[in-house]
Amino acid sequence: MLKKAIFLDRDGVVNKEVNYLFKIEDFEFIDGIFDACLYFQNLGYAIIIVTNQSGIARKYYTENDYQTVTKWMLKQFEDNGIEILNVFHCPHGPESTCECRKPKPGMFLTAMIQNNIDMEKSWMIGDKEVDVIAANSAGINHTILVRNAHSIDESNSKAEFILDSIQHTKHVITT
Ligand SMILES: [Zn+2]
Repeated sequence: MLKKAIFLDRDGVVNKEVNYLFKIEDFEFIDGIFDACLYFQNLGYAIIIVTNQSGIARKYYTENDYQTVTKWMLKQFEDNGIEILNVFHCPHGPESTCECRKPKPGMFLTAMIQNNIDMEKSWMIGDKEVDVIAANSAGINHTILVRNAHSIDESNSKAEFILDSIQHTKHVITT
């Protein structure tokens, strides 16, 4: 049986954007993220995080630093009754020819194969156009960008919806 999933970008969607975040004390959850995830979970979605972490390639922090933050983040979700099915990250830099760095769809395709995800019934929630491009390339047509620190070129965006915050996703994801 295929699962439907909500794919979330991390920085700017799960947590407030901090350039090259690698310390737990700098990790601040976005208001409403837990409520939104509980809502998605109740609708039967699996929740998967897909994040570019070029700070690892740039040597601003290590893979181990990243894993420490991830483990802590997952514990906070768990304490709020939320199961995150997978967290995928790309540790490579922009000059890399890897298949995982968004806007390439590698992380989405790996998630799809590992978990039998029905991409047609799945959604991507991001804060940058690369999130939308990567999702579309992986066969996900339902995409949402949330407005935050990054300015979005809204007239040229391929996003299906552009919303003020994660709280508003409830109005567009209804089944
Ligand atoms: Zn990569």
